[in-house]
Amino acid sequence: MLLVATGFSITLGYHRLFSHITFRAKLPLRLFTLVFGAAAFENSVLMWASEHRRHHKHVDHDEDPYDITKGFFHAHIGWLLFKLQPQPPFDNVADLKRDPLVMWQHRHIHLLAVMVSFVLPTLAGFAWGGWVGALGGFLIGGVAKVVVLQHGTFLINSASHTIGRQPYSARCSARDSFLMALFTCGEGYHNYHHEFQHDYRNGVKPWQWDPTKWLIWI
Ligand SMILES: [Zn+2]
Ligand SMILES: [Zn+2]
Repeated sequence: MLLVATGFSITLGYHRLFSHITFRAKLPLRLFTLVFGAAAFENSVLMWASEHRRHHKHVDHDEDPYDITKGFFHAHIGWLLFKLQPQPPFDNVADLKRDPLVMWQHRHIHLLAVMVSFVLPTLAGFAWGGWVGALGGFLIGGVAKVVVLQHGTFLINSASHTIGRQPYSARCSARDSFLMALFTCGEGYHNYHHEFQHDYRNGVKPWQWDPTKWLIWI
């Protein structure tokens, strides 16, 4: 449950709603995706969107935070492990800075992340099966969930710029892949996404596996 709630909070919330403004949402949905998105330990939506907008603008170039031309490992996780450059200013998210809910999440991101990602599944495990349940909740609902979510997200920056076809444009390295879409709630149609970043769909054909677009449509 927590994996699904957090996964969609990243794809539907962090990515398609806040970073690209592909649709508008009322307060309950925005609050939900901010609270559960925090559990992925991918920092606040303000920082995430700022880096992601920079990725789209400068894709395959030096200012792209996860530039694939620096290698698969760098694009996947190296850019986070060896952050040598200082954090660039949040100069491309003025719209998000005006959103009090976004700024509230930004101020409390670390506390929110720990509470939702680790404390919640540990308590749920304890209620269900005592101390053994708590340990299981922490390890599976907490630690394993974060590993799966983070590598799912990182695959978009690495594999989706390496594996697949380029039906829409060869202007940049982004590629479409059904396999990647399977692992990422539909984000694997990345060639289309780089060409049409303001579309709420990534898999634009009706049969393409993009559960995030179906959720938004609903
Ligand atoms: Zn994007
Ligand atoms: Zn990309």
